[in-house]
Amino acid sequence: MRPTRIAKPKQHVAAWLGDWNRARQEFDWDQVRRELAALPGGAFNIAYAALDRHAGGARADHVALRWLGRFGNERTVSYAELARQTNRCANALRELGLAKGDRVFVLAARIPELYIAVLGALKIGAVVSPLFSAFGPEPIATRVNLGLGKALITTASLYQRKVEKIRPTLATLAHVLLIGEDSRTVSVPGTQDFATLLARASEQCAVEPTSTEDMALLHFTSGTTGTPKGAIHVHGAALMHYMTGKYALDLHADDIFWCTADPGWVTGTSYGIIAPMLHGVTSIVDEAEFDAERWYRILQDQRVNVWYTAPTAIRMLMKAGDELPKRYRFDALRFIASVGEPLNPEAVWWGNDVLGLPIHDNWWQTETGGIMIANYPAMDIKPGSMGKPLPGVEAFIVKHKNGGELEIIDQPEVEGELALRSGWPSMFRGYLNQEERYKKCFAGDLYLTGDLAKRDAEGYLWFVGRADDVIKSAGHLIGPFEVESALMEHPAVAESGVIGKPDPMVGEVVKAFVSLKPGHEPSEALKLELLGHARKRLGAAVAPKEIAFLAVLPRTRSGKIMRRLLKARELGLPEGDLSTLEAGA
Ligand code: AMP
Repeated sequence: MRPTRIAKPKQHVAAWLGDWNRARQEFDWDQVRRELAALPGGAFNIAYAALDRHAGGARADHVALRWLGRFGNERTVSYAELARQTNRCANALRELGLAKGDRVFVLAARIPELYIAVLGALKIGAVVSPLFSAFGPEPIATRVNLGLGKALITTASLYQRKVEKIRPTLATLAHVLLIGEDSRTVSVPGTQDFATLLARASEQCAVEPTSTEDMALLHFTSGTTGTPKGAIHVHGAALMHYMTGKYALDLHADDIFWCTADPGWVTGTSYGIIAPMLHGVTSIVDEAEFDAERWYRILQDQRVNVWYTAPTAIRMLMKAGDELPKRYRFDALRFIASVGEPLNPEAVWWGNDVLGLPIHDNWWQTETGGIMIANYPAMDIKPGSMGKPLPGVEAFIVKHKNGGELEIIDQPEVEGELALRSGWPSMFRGYLNQEERYKKCFAGDLYLTGDLAKRDAEGYLWFVGRADDVIKSAGHLIGPFEVESALMEHPAVAESGVIGKPDPMVGEVVKAFVSLKPGHEPSEALKLELLGHARKRLGAAVAPKEIAFLAVLPRTRSGKIMRRLLKARELGLPEGDLSTLEAGA
């Protein structure tokens, strides 16, 4: 049996958060505000704080991005260069008539232009909404339409594969800017060439004097029902990104930092773009997909000091075997953190045994905008626990009493919903145009996270599960409704119910149950056709991996598909309360 805790590691560099209790007592957001200089005149803009602040100072020539191309090509971009490029991008967007508040969607692989587009758009006060490059046309269209996208910055190949056909359905989209392969110019009807627009634009730019409360980012996330929800985040969220970069990721100015998350999701934006730049550190950006050997080589050759990754990736490294990492040295590595799904205790230990450092789990979600709970560098780790709340964050375990009231549970080891006291700067300010759904997340000043957890006697928090039906696959949140809707568009499908089926590698895989319309019979060929149909519409990130046919799907008497029951039957678990089940299902 392994011990239940790992003593805090010896640090090569003093960890920022030495004394958790004291730091929490003394913590003050005004201090964080002072550390992050505002724009002249007191305005606050993420891109100014992340870039221009350094570009005009001692860190101007420090490398902001070290990009590793898929085919071995590399590019380094300094803070000064990135500031100039983003100025050009900002001016180009202004020339097109875009202004503060306009929605700019960005759909690209991990390439330097993605960072230029996001930060350039923030400079004019536009609202940036990142899209995952593995989304298919349908999730892209849904999000651009819900977000009233006015401009889309994407690559020529993604545009041709995923957007061109649905373009007529994107009614608000006035401009499409295309990034060519290897900076080559592209000419596609109905689009403009990103590089040409930037080359024509000035390198000087007056950053939009946004306030901390102005909307900066729109991150779409999924619920159990209905359309995706656009979580609204403001420029002031950067205070949280900076603070957590310091305390939860232990970033120091000369660090080389590698966040493996894709900027198409909230972690890749908050901690792949914003937090490291607020700290003026060098970020590694790897364009390629996961490959165990490549990843170990990057950690070694790029001399990564701080590595922020995810449980699925760690499990895939574990699967590649313990011999492979023995060929590499990780002597620069100082701190490893993980987020997005439960991190198995064995994975924490594996880090300790194989990489020489334990892995620090931390917890947050799209709505919280930044890390809320973490195993800190200077704290013992309890493998399997998410850690303790950050300074400035108050977390509670609550129970819903009959009659709708909430009870805060003080005793340790009692499961309940994880709730957070509102008021941290990166808290989402609403779901775009969905006030009711937003209001439902709160009880007084408590934000209800939708996660079940418990606290132990020492104050460490332990993840128990989700309180709803959303699916977490390889760290990506997937709404079953979006998948069900796409399946229902197939002429053979009468109805569908989608669940997350536990999977040892990616946490959960998407599994769909479908019933067929009269005149269609279950067959292997139809199954493949449906898998293909879903993949084409939804993209690899969202589409189901498994499909099963059922004569009828279990429904409540009010007509709702009982995903809970589909899951219980799939896993051979007790079926629970069936009093609302429609007869015959
Ligand atoms: P997202 O909004 O896509 O970032 O997903 C957030 C959800 O991922 C949380 O509500 C949790 O269900 C899950 N999650 C994130 N971090 C952790 C973690 N460290 N342990 C367990 N679940 C996590």
